[in-house]
Amino acid sequence: MRLKKVLRTVLGLCPAVVVTSWELTETGEGTRPRLVVRVRLKAGRRGRCGRCAAVAAWFDRGDGERRWRHVDVGYATCELVADAPRVSCADHGVTVAEVPWARHDSVFSRAFEDLVVHDAIVANKQAAADRYGISWRAVNNACVRLATEALGRVDLLEGLVAVAIDEVKYKKGHKYLTVVCDHFTGRVIWAVKGRSKDSVGAFFAALGDERAARLAFVSCDGAEWIRSVVAAKAPEAIVCLDTFHVIGWATDALDEVRRGEWNTLRSAGSAEAAKQFKGLRWLLLRNWENLSSKQKSVIRGLDKANRRAFRAWQLKEELRDIFALSLAAARRALDDWLAYASRSQLAPFVKLARTIRHYRASIEATIEWKLTNGIAESNNASIGRIRANARGFHDPDAFITMIMLDRGGLGPELPWAAA
Ligand SMILES: [Zn+2]
Repeated sequence: MRLKKVLRTVLGLCPAVVVTSWELTETGEGTRPRLVVRVRLKAGRRGRCGRCAAVAAWFDRGDGERRWRHVDVGYATCELVADAPRVSCADHGVTVAEVPWARHDSVFSRAFEDLVVHDAIVANKQAAADRYGISWRAVNNACVRLATEALGRVDLLEGLVAVAIDEVKYKKGHKYLTVVCDHFTGRVIWAVKGRSKDSVGAFFAALGDERAARLAFVSCDGAEWIRSVVAAKAPEAIVCLDTFHVIGWATDALDEVRRGEWNTLRSAGSAEAAKQFKGLRWLLLRNWENLSSKQKSVIRGLDKANRRAFRAWQLKEELRDIFALSLAAARRALDDWLAYASRSQLAPFVKLARTIRHYRASIEATIEWKLTNGIAESNNASIGRIRANARGFHDPDAFITMIMLDRGGLGPELPWAAA
């Protein structure tokens, strides 16, 4: 096999590309060897617009040759070099002709860029920058370029039937994004900075009236800034209350009771009992089925040690169970639960019972239509992971780009994945 053919195969260049020459430079100690490969398109292939790929007339030679960083070859870095003539596109005017190995306006080859963005998604941008020896900014640009390209290719807002609208924190100090997910695919389909009626309004503007009218279900928490806009823009949609949020409320109520009991013990001077009680926090907040038998016996012991905390814990667990019941059984269980909570003499649960009565129709809709597959929960968890990997985001747009690449399913395939 001729070396030029070996190079073309090893570098993953398509059959329309011809390797014309190559050069290996070793630039001394401490620097990596560099493989420079000169390529051209096969003769007779007509020029295409770099922006829209439409066949376009030859214009001029442009600025001569251009270089693209390509996937590393062993210890060596690799660079592709080619002429970059300009064409005249009917829509885009004079622009650099398309090349199959790189995206328009990028100094990286497509395969190299895909690897960079892949690593930025599974780890973070700094890790990708370190791994490939490029700047953080270059990684960021590659992420934006890929997300933009993917969003131009697929319409995530097409064919929606059930969506979840939620807020996600991106920075300390009450900085939030509004995030919309598709209940059926689990994908994030839309996100914008802020959490207000305007944010939700922007989603419906992007969706358009016709597609909004086809929404059958919208799940969200109790937030009025979401509900009022949904009622106006998708009046036919059934509004469901995410299980995740209801359980979240119950967990908060339980924690409030626990804190109250702890304070009572402390001010009564029983420091040791208070300390023991404080340690219960994580135990109480975890789901029963995730506890070890030893932990379960600690909770059972609470029945005698602290009636109020035990009752609060029971209320939380019972509410959780209701979401697994059939609608008829859940309705009866909710009646019982509300009566029990209202009479519990636990202020946070009395208040929660009022809230749940207020949203009862939404809660029953969730149970009836079984929109309880934890989509909000799993998205919150993975968006939290994206945020943690990046050690926080200052720029909401950068956060949105990463959410869309990762949770929107817009991330690149590895270059050698079967096309
Ligand atoms: Zn064009």
